[in-house]
Amino acid sequence: MRVRKLEAHPLRPLKMNEPFSTTNVLLSDLYFVIVRVETDSGAVGYGEALPAWEVNGETQASVAGCIELCKNARQVYDKDLLIGKPIATLDDIRAVMDRLQPVHWPATIAGNSAAKAAIEQALLDACARHQQKPLHQLLDIAPAAVTTSVTSGIRPVSETLGWVERVLALKPKLIRLKVGSQAEKVGEHASLDRDIEVVVRTREMIRGSGQNILLAADANEGFTDAPRALEFCRPVEGLLDWLEQPVLAEDRLAFREISRHVEVPLMADESLHSYGDAKLLVELGGVEYFNVKLMKAGGLISALRIIDLAADHGVKCHIGSMVETSLGCLMGCYAAMSRPETVGTTDMNAWKYIADEPWKILTEKNGEIELSNPAAVGTGANDRIVQALSAQS
Ligand SMILES: [Mg+2]
Repeated sequence: MRVRKLEAHPLRPLKMNEPFSTTNVLLSDLYFVIVRVETDSGAVGYGEALPAWEVNGETQASVAGCIELCKNARQVYDKDLLIGKPIATLDDIRAVMDRLQPVHWPATIAGNSAAKAAIEQALLDACARHQQKPLHQLLDIAPAAVTTSVTSGIRPVSETLGWVERVLALKPKLIRLKVGSQAEKVGEHASLDRDIEVVVRTREMIRGSGQNILLAADANEGFTDAPRALEFCRPVEGLLDWLEQPVLAEDRLAFREISRHVEVPLMADESLHSYGDAKLLVELGGVEYFNVKLMKAGGLISALRIIDLAADHGVKCHIGSMVETSLGCLMGCYAAMSRPETVGTTDMNAWKYIADEPWKILTEKNGEIELSNPAAVGTGANDRIVQALSAQS
């Protein structure tokens, strides 16, 4: 079975239930691209890309452009990247992805990791459908419950604590608070005072609830450098299970600097895209956790490579999201199910933040995600929904 056709379907913007504010982005509309692969056996596969320009530098147009380039590779490079390639087995797909997202030789197309993640998912989906199997069987994964989080955007203290009170009733496993606003003030507090206050008070509320809940803060680079990050860290020492990406993505030395002064476990997110980034971060030190996202890594195979490297160095992993639908989150769930000893938590309920989430491939209960229909062949995605959501329709 070989790839016969490759298409990019940019979707009309999908609305979030409510706008979500991080250090430098206010998200309210999400711009997805569905990659559709057709094979000479008639099997079809679908993959989701959610470009995040503030993290990856990709856009809906760049994902579509990358797919077009892959489709026309023979004209551009005098070799095929996807069209005509065999994808009848998992090993076939590994070989294709090893050319598209290489570790051991130079890339033909650098970057474009969300586009590559979507291509990989579409190939896996087509292969699973060809073999008449659920995707987890193709991947040799036993379906299991995956721990997920609840996440608050940056809001004033009283609003944030009101939200915490509401989510405590849902018995979550992990509460994540966005911090590090670039505004001088959030509500009536100076930004840094607001961040410290919400962490201190949330930890008190968790203790008061008698529940065993992890608490993390995510700065999305917002403290920018080590001295500013330390101003936040010192008053919250001992209260956080981890602090995610306190400094600018490129300042990979800052993790070590911060960890020398405070006992706050640090997680790398925007600083970690590739296997090479992961190697550098463990070598530099100061990072106890990785936030691995398939849209950054370029798909499941690359993400698992990073997770295995983390395991070798005693680094724990969290599978993060760019706010994918359940189609995209499915692949993050598979990453977590594949490596339960290294991956403790995820954000794979991100689809719940999207109004009218279209696929309903996953379900959540009490902070745990499960496959809605473990017996479904492939991903369960279909042309009807792609057409209904298409930007062209
Ligand atoms: Mg993050």
